[in-house]
Amino acid sequence: MKKVKIVEVAPRDGLQNLQAFVLTDKKIAFIKKLAGAGTQEIQIGSFVSTRAIPQFRDMEAVTQSVRRLRGVELSVLVPNGRGAEKALACGITRLIFFFSVSSKHNYANVKQSPRDSLKELESICRLLPPGLLTSLRVDLGTAFGCPFSGSVTTAAVLRMVEKVAALGAREITLCDTVGFGHPKAVEEKFRECFRLFPEIRFGAHFHNTRGLAPANALRAYDVGVRSFDSSTGGLGGCPYAPGSSGNIATEDLVYLFESMGIKTGINLKKLLKICAWLQQILPQAKLSGSLFPAGLPRKHKLFC
Ligand code: ZN
Repeated sequence: MKKVKIVEVAPRDGLQNLQAFVLTDKKIAFIKKLAGAGTQEIQIGSFVSTRAIPQFRDMEAVTQSVRRLRGVELSVLVPNGRGAEKALACGITRLIFFFSVSSKHNYANVKQSPRDSLKELESICRLLPPGLLTSLRVDLGTAFGCPFSGSVTTAAVLRMVEKVAALGAREITLCDTVGFGHPKAVEEKFRECFRLFPEIRFGAHFHNTRGLAPANALRAYDVGVRSFDSSTGGLGGCPYAPGSSGNIATEDLVYLFESMGIKTGINLKKLLKICAWLQQILPQAKLSGSLFPAGLPRKHKLFC
């Protein structure tokens, strides 16, 4: 059976951009609803400095309430060893470390060079018990372009992948942080990654800034990617990347794959209900997906 894993990032990538604080019980309800729709993995937030992103000041409380959910993997972003320690203390063992291939974006985002981020990653790898190293995921931001310095070459991405792999990480996601990617670049970067690093599991994280995220996802699937990030309602962006808009909407990505007979495990009808609920509790947020509010085609075989 053809299938993909869809990693829901709205509680993290989506909410981090909202000015207004989303109440803790709403965040918890959101995560539970997503789990109830069949989501395999949910990024529930970031253990970052609450001064940098106040939206995540209630991470401990959110984590405590959802950590025993069954049938779903919960992950958190950590920018440094301190964040990793906090996450582990809260019982979350699926950690995601992120930094950007582009120096300028990395400085804007985490106030340090990619080289220093790699040192930080090394300290996290040392901190983790050996069994947990395989569940560490490393996200390479601006892998398809940077809002400050423009294009990012495949060679630059491969150099970074090599350094991350040398530290023991076995899962790497190429992130199109600001929607610069196009299918040709997606094909070239992932093909080279798979060819040179067959031991690494590669995932894709696309933003739909210029409308190409679905085309990029499809091309990535064609070259072998089986893990995709997306955000319900297309919520998202990057606070340190001017012009970045939402992630590819989960409902659009699920619709794309399921229409082609590629299973996601996600119940689209439930997901569309979550979109409607989200719009109700976050009236200020602009949902940018297409399937909500367009809805499913009537009497569509796959979804009836
Ligand atoms: Zn993103």
